Amino acid sequence: MEKGKLTVILGCMFSGKTTKLIEITQDLLRQSKKVGIFHPIIDTRYKVNAINSHAGNSIDSQALDLNTAHIPTKGMEVVVIDEVHFFNDSIVHAIEELLNAGVDVYAGGLNKNFLAQPFATVEKILPLADKKIELYAKCSVCDRPAEFSYRKTTSQDLFVIGGAESYEPRCAEHYNSEF
Ligand SMILES: [Zn+2]
Repeated sequence: MEKGKLTVILGCMFSGKTTKLIEITQDLLRQSKKVGIFHPIIDTRYKVNAINSHAGNSIDSQALDLNTAHIPTKGMEVVVIDEVHFFNDSIVHAIEELLNAGVDVYAGGLNKNFLAQPFATVEKILPLADKKIELYAKCSVCDRPAEFSYRKTTSQDLFVIGGAESYEPRCAEHYNSEF
């Protein structure tokens, strides 16, 4: 059996990752593909059984436990996973299983945490990728392409769920400067 292909979509907050995943999913559904859509259970910002972009798009999705992410390979042609950086190693194994079963996988996640360090799970998934798509937001200070998620609050917790009240996209220059 031919192995599935993995596409990883990375970018900072507000770079349009989820919008891209929703577009890919809608395209696959138009082609009558059997698509499974999954997101981590931690993301309770919006409707729980859906993935939602900051731009307001939404698509039905199944919530997966962060630590025991199991995705059935049977009957699937393509699997789409949002916010992949939140998961631990279980998602890496799940993705490997899907690829070995001939299922294509699209995984979207943050390129870096708010300290500009990569997420461990994303680092483990990237070597498996056939294709990497990098998305950029617009720097909130200068409008140039942004690849950093700047945290506006004082929390030092690595995983803080939030939107525009907690984060803004910034270019390298303005990520590193005080504003
Ligand atoms: Zn800037």
